[in-house]
Amino acid sequence: MKVLKFGGTSVGTAESLTNVKQIVNACSGQVIVVVSALGGVTNQLLAMADLAEKQDAAWEQVLAEVKARHMSVIEAVVPAERQAQCKAVVEGFITEGLYSYYGMLHANQQLPAEYRDQLRDAIVSHGEIMSSAIVSSMIDGAVPHYAPNFIKTKDVDCERILDNRTFELITSEFGGRLEQVHVTQGFIAEDSTTGQKTNLGRGGSDFTAALIAAALDAESLEIWTDVDGFMTADPRTNPDATVIPQMTYAQAQAMCEAGAKVIYTPTLGPVAVKHIPVWVKNTFNPSAPGTVILDPK
Ligand code: ASP
Ligand code: MG
Repeated sequence: MKVLKFGGTSVGTAESLTNVKQIVNACSGQVIVVVSALGGVTNQLLAMADLAEKQDAAWEQVLAEVKARHMSVIEAVVPAERQAQCKAVVEGFITEGLYSYYGMLHANQQLPAEYRDQLRDAIVSHGEIMSSAIVSSMIDGAVPHYAPNFIKTKDVDCERILDNRTFELITSEFGGRLEQVHVTQGFIAEDSTTGQKTNLGRGGSDFTAALIAAALDAESLEIWTDVDGFMTADPRTNPDATVIPQMTYAQAQAMCEAGAKVIYTPTLGPVAVKHIPVWVKNTFNPSAPGTVILDPK
């Protein structure tokens, strides 16, 4: 079994989603697909919350654009027989979820800060909830899973950390399932005590995928992104930059800590412990070999 994570640019357009479908369908064994929100949507969800808090009704226009984008992606990638249902589901998240959450922020200037933060966490989870609804409807036979049921956080000394019960919850969610393709959300989680929506931090979808891979002893974790792999230098400033074909967990970790944006820094820990190889691959250039991260020889 493999875990494949697709980032925001990979699920950002109808064209890129078509690549995602091909990549998933080309896998022979069981796959768990972890998705980010459509590229840019997480930022828009937060920007709309800022507007609503300032009682600026411009959020309604942005929300209409976000809705239109999701609907046109559904029309382009979801097979005709599942389109109406997928549209109704996504529309429900927008009108019953997002619209009412923004409305609450807009109408109640006196909301306590803690409650506002909870609303923002609930709001931002919708990016992945909507993208995963699209991806699971797009792939024949895909089984949808709701990540907050098994990715749990807790607050310790005012810091949000992973609740280690996550590992056994992942095992009971996916263990013994025979279907070939499973789809779930990256990034989003739930507080194990309060049941409130939480998340693993910006860029956290990679970490979700690593937790699933580690809990299930996956044969590999594949991080599908929009670059060919880890590069020797920043290609925007250094035209001689080349892809690093192979790295150790420690080397990749050091590059993440030094600011490489390819994967979210906490990702490597859980997979390194289990010696699970991590591939960084390009959704827009799937035949490129990518970078593999492994134990030292
Ligand atoms: N959608 C979230 C973000 O933009 C999580 C992720 O993409 O990994 O930060
Ligand atoms: Mg990322």
